[in-house]
Amino acid sequence: MLKLSGVYKTLKSGDRVLEVLKPVDLTVEPGQVLAIMGPSGSGKSTLLGLIAGLDAPSGGSIQIDGQEITGLSEDGLAILRGRKVGIVFQSFNLIPNLTAEENVALPLELSGFDGDPVQRAKELLSEVGLSERGHHYPVQLSGGEQQRVAIARAFAGRPALLLADEPTGNLDSATGDRIVELMLRLNREQGTTMILVTHDPDLARQADRIVSLRDGHIVGDELTRIREGVR
Ligand code: ADP
Ligand code: MG
Repeated sequence: MLKLSGVYKTLKSGDRVLEVLKPVDLTVEPGQVLAIMGPSGSGKSTLLGLIAGLDAPSGGSIQIDGQEITGLSEDGLAILRGRKVGIVFQSFNLIPNLTAEENVALPLELSGFDGDPVQRAKELLSEVGLSERGHHYPVQLSGGEQQRVAIARAFAGRPALLLADEPTGNLDSATGDRIVELMLRLNREQGTTMILVTHDPDLARQADRIVSLRDGHIVGDELTRIREGVR
C-alpha cells in the first residue's frame, strides 16, 4: 500500500544543513493501522507531510498504491490528495467561511469526485453524527465537532490512505477517545490504511503497529496485539 525507500529530508539553516529526517525505509500493508510515536522534534510531522505530498523529500522513493509520488507536479499531488489520501490535522484546518457541508464537499469537487459531492458530504456528516450541523460554520462548532467535520472531509473521497497528525492533540481526553473510536470504525468499514501520529500511548495501543522516531531515525517498529475482531 505504502512503500518508502531511503526517504530523507534536509533543510538548510544559514550554512548548516539540518537532517530533519534521516533515510527511512517503511512498508505499510493495506488496511494496517500504524501509529507513529516519538518526542517533539523527532520528525513525525515531517514524515507525514512527505507521505501526504505536502512537502517534497530531499531524496528517496515514496510509492502509494504502486504509484511513485516524488516528482509529481503540484496538480498531480492535488489529485492524489483528493482521490487517494485523506489528511486530518491537530488544528482541524477547516475553511472558516465555508459551512461544515461545504468543507466536506469542496475537496470532492476539486478532485473530480465520481458522484454528487454535496450528497456525499451529507452522508459523511451523518456518519460522524453531525447531520444536523451541515449548515453551521466552524466557529459555531465545538473542537470535537470541528474534528469530526475534518474526519468526514478526510474520508469522503474514500481514500486508500488516511493520515492523521496528532488528531486528538487539541481535544480533551473524552472527546479525543470518541474521535479515535470514530476513525477506527471508518477504518474498519472502509478498509482504509491509517497512519496516526500521536503522543498518546493509549491511542497508539489501538493501532496494529507502532513505529517510534527519535532524532529523525526509526528506532522502534513493533506489532501490537491485533485489534479484536478486525483481522
Ligand atoms: P515532530 O512532528 O516530531 O514534533 P517535526 O517533523 O515537526 O517534528 O520536526 C522535526 C525537526 O525538524 C525539528 O527539529 C524541527 O525543529 C525541524 N524543522 C521542521 N520544519 C522545519 C522548518 N521549516 N525549518 C527549520 N526546521 C524545521
Ligand atoms: Mg509534529
